[in-house]
Amino acid sequence: MAAKSIAQRWFINSFVVVLAILVSIVTASGMLIHNYYYSAAEQALRARASTVSNMMLRYSSGSVSSNFYSEMRTYIESFPDKDYIELMAIDPYGEVSITSSGFSYVNKQDRMADYREALTSADGIGTYTGKLSNGQKIMAVTQTVSIVNSEYSAMRFVVSLETVDRVILNMMLIISGIALAVLGLVLMSGLIFVRSIVRPVREIGEAAKQIAQGDLKSRIVKETDDEIGELCETINFMADELENSERLKNEFISSVSHELRTPLTAIKGWAETMVAIADDPVMLEKGMRVITAETERLSGMVEELLDFSRIQDGRLRLSFQRMDILAELGEAVLMYTEKARQENIEMTYNEPEMLPLIYGDKNRLRQVFINIIDNAIKYSDPGGSVKVDTFQRGEEIVITVADSGLGIQPEDLPRIKTKFFKANYSRRGSGIGLAVADEIVQMHRGSINIESTPGVGTTVIITIPVLEQPEESTEPKN
Ligand code: ADP
Repeated sequence: MAAKSIAQRWFINSFVVVLAILVSIVTASGMLIHNYYYSAAEQALRARASTVSNMMLRYSSGSVSSNFYSEMRTYIESFPDKDYIELMAIDPYGEVSITSSGFSYVNKQDRMADYREALTSADGIGTYTGKLSNGQKIMAVTQTVSIVNSEYSAMRFVVSLETVDRVILNMMLIISGIALAVLGLVLMSGLIFVRSIVRPVREIGEAAKQIAQGDLKSRIVKETDDEIGELCETINFMADELENSERLKNEFISSVSHELRTPLTAIKGWAETMVAIADDPVMLEKGMRVITAETERLSGMVEELLDFSRIQDGRLRLSFQRMDILAELGEAVLMYTEKARQENIEMTYNEPEMLPLIYGDKNRLRQVFINIIDNAIKYSDPGGSVKVDTFQRGEEIVITVADSGLGIQPEDLPRIKTKFFKANYSRRGSGIGLAVADEIVQMHRGSINIESTPGVGTTVIITIPVLEQPEESTEPKN
């Protein structure tokens, strides 16, 4: 299990954030609704307070008339909103003298804070919101009455807040329900999304593990067309390539073993023969020549393998110097003239008068020419031809080796310079010659291009820049 799973990360980065937003929205809307309803209730009470106080002033016209008290009593007792608002008349001693409910009793513990506030406030109004001693929640608004010699010093309006609180509670329940539903949806869609990533990622991990453990046939089924699908394709491509390179490596080992066995068999055979015919100097000489040639072939192959391993771990160093490329090419051609004649292959070399000097490693470049000419002869049948040309083109020297041999299939051409790759198993070879040659030419900032038509022939074009001083110029190491 991963130390911190995707599900956990999603939970912290998304779900917790959504949760926090929803909690803030619910809390803020709760406060807004509460303020709205409470201030609406207060406004309603204040409006009634001002209506009643105006009415009293009108009745009394500034002083108390004879029927003022009876009219007020009637008004208070038949107060139109008495079902939900209790109207109280308060005497100058702060006691409730009449109430719309008919009970003048007010518990002494309920200290009518609104009344005291009204006495001291500039506009003569006081408000109170809180609980009575019996636990009932109320809102009270008191308006003082400025009538000379009146038995009433203030009118008090009291409303129970239970209904308002119930309405607020209901609204909060609805809002919380919606928030919970949103949270549930977010949780569900998030989990589905996380699962849709986690499951294929686990499968990819399993398949990659199997591939790493050597099961190169293992592949992942691509189910989606997104980044995960792309990852599946990439891993499958990686497995294809690994499988390919594993196959090439095995073929390489078998080719190399075969290549080593052939000269060894010849050497062993001739050595045994030479023991038996020790008194025949002609045969002895022939045997010695074969053994020397086969030993040279063996050491050439071992050198090629060593070069390859040096290239692989970056140890191949070249010794650059001013050099005449014609000398090295001429020597390589000369080395193969006799061999071509023996195999009935016509070899021609159009040597120009002179070419500019280049900076290069002459031994390595000769090795490249030998390799390419060797291939040209090797992949040609008797009666064929190999044509070597060289010329200057602008700031570069071009060497072409064209044969009329077997050719290379177009689908094999792009991979021909890849290590271990052999397009043709009918001829000896380890499949690393061109890879080594390509690396050496690249180290000279040149290139090798191959053009080929199956059944017609192959042309290898080597390009090397003229006298370009490379940055690195080191002695070769073993
Ligand atoms: P090898 O040791 O097998 O010759 P190389 O790396 O030199 O390995 O060449 C790689 C492959 O390229 C060869 O196996 C062969 O199939 C193909 N090839 C190279 N040169 C030629 C050529 N002149 N004509 C036809 N095929 C060639």
